[in-house]
Amino acid sequence: MEKYDIIITGAGAAGLSFAYKLAKDSFFDNKKILLLDKEEKSVNDKTWCFWSKENNIFPEIILKKWNKLLIRTSHKSQIFDINPYSYNLIKSSDFYRYVLKTLHSKKNFHFKTEKIEEIRTHGSVVTNKSIYHGEYIFNSIGNTIIKEREKVITLLQHFKGWEIQMERPVFNPEVATLMDFDIDQKGDCRFVYVLPYDEFTAMVEYTVFSENLLDRKEYNAELENYLNTKYNNQPYKILHEEFGVIPMSDFKYTSDVKNSIINIGTLGGATKASTGYTFYFIQKQIDHYIKQLKKSKIKKAFMPKFKYRLYDSVLLHVLKEKKVPAYTIFEDLFFKSEIKLVLKFLSENTNILEDIILMSKVNIPVFSRAMIRRFRELD
Ligand SMILES: Cc1cc2nc3c(=O)[nH]c(=O)nc-3n(C[C@H](O)[C@H](O)[C@H](O)COP(=O)(O)OP(=O)(O)OC[C@H]3O[C@@H](n4cnc5c(N)ncnc54)[C@H](O)[C@@H]3O)c2cc1C
Repeated sequence: MEKYDIIITGAGAAGLSFAYKLAKDSFFDNKKILLLDKEEKSVNDKTWCFWSKENNIFPEIILKKWNKLLIRTSHKSQIFDINPYSYNLIKSSDFYRYVLKTLHSKKNFHFKTEKIEEIRTHGSVVTNKSIYHGEYIFNSIGNTIIKEREKVITLLQHFKGWEIQMERPVFNPEVATLMDFDIDQKGDCRFVYVLPYDEFTAMVEYTVFSENLLDRKEYNAELENYLNTKYNNQPYKILHEEFGVIPMSDFKYTSDVKNSIINIGTLGGATKASTGYTFYFIQKQIDHYIKQLKKSKIKKAFMPKFKYRLYDSVLLHVLKEKKVPAYTIFEDLFFKSEIKLVLKFLSENTNILEDIILMSKVNIPVFSRAMIRRFRELD
């Protein structure tokens, strides 16, 4: 059985972000590290967006940044200047290429394209071809969509995106549309993102927060309808498509710290339950583990602070109950508050006073009832 100090099972956003940070830190130069994935990572399967204040999350491969965000509902539209934040976009194909190039230049990193069949508690990883042993296993594969569990709320964030090219210049490349609720809500929470790369080209994504997926054809029909309505039937070409499902759950994702099997990425709780944003939190999660590894060993699993788990759970409850139209929640949050404070809050960096300021803007009776309920039920 081949032995390694660290085995990374799953070379996606989390596995590769973790490997990259290990590779960049000479502390780990004498560690033998194995990356296992069932796929050669090269395909552009995801477009990752995140906001940040610092320019330290893979700045070399950010394809486009925006300092202005637009939020629109059926009766209000506003462009916000988010400086010093920027909203950043990375294509997964650029990320895979960039990280793998760095890893291939290091002698202590090893790669195998194999399907993982089992991870055993004493540290062995069984694949379709072999068995490996690791002192530590950092794992991002497994079922992340936790449904039908008592007291756990899980919604799905599902979306279809088209990268399109218009025949005429229609986009303002300075402004990204973060949420356009000015579409038929159909009883759910539905909105469109428009991320313009230039005046002709943009990633346009139709997104739904709900319990079940739509029929595949419906995403296309809604995208077509949006583009024709908003851009006056301008002809366009679809350059690239993506489809995704992200769990929005207050399930307590954790790790088997005792057996040194550490879950990372969505499986390790890096997906923010109320927004689905993950890429930024993966970086936080990984820093948390690297810091501990450098001290001695991993003693504590990554976990968002209880207050943020509670706030997220409350929002999920309100979205699920549908007592108020979902877009009004975001309207209250974005139009009645300072946007930088909202971004700080959603990045989980606010203090309690800032939390109270933001919470005073939402529908207090609805949110208070949800808060009492989720406080009692949250694990
Ligand atoms: C289309 C899409 C767009 C997204 N956009 C955003 C965004 O804009 N911003 C944001 O913050 N988040 C976004 N997310 C959410 C989140 O950032 C991604 O899902 C992210 O990829 C999660 O990282 P991960 O490492 O947990 O999982 P993954 O990146 O999915 O990595 C898991 C890896 O495990 C491998 N694997 C799985 N099973 C096996 C097996 N049995 N054997 C071997 N290998 C296996 C897979 O091939 C994959 O490489 C998006 C998600 C999707 C699906």
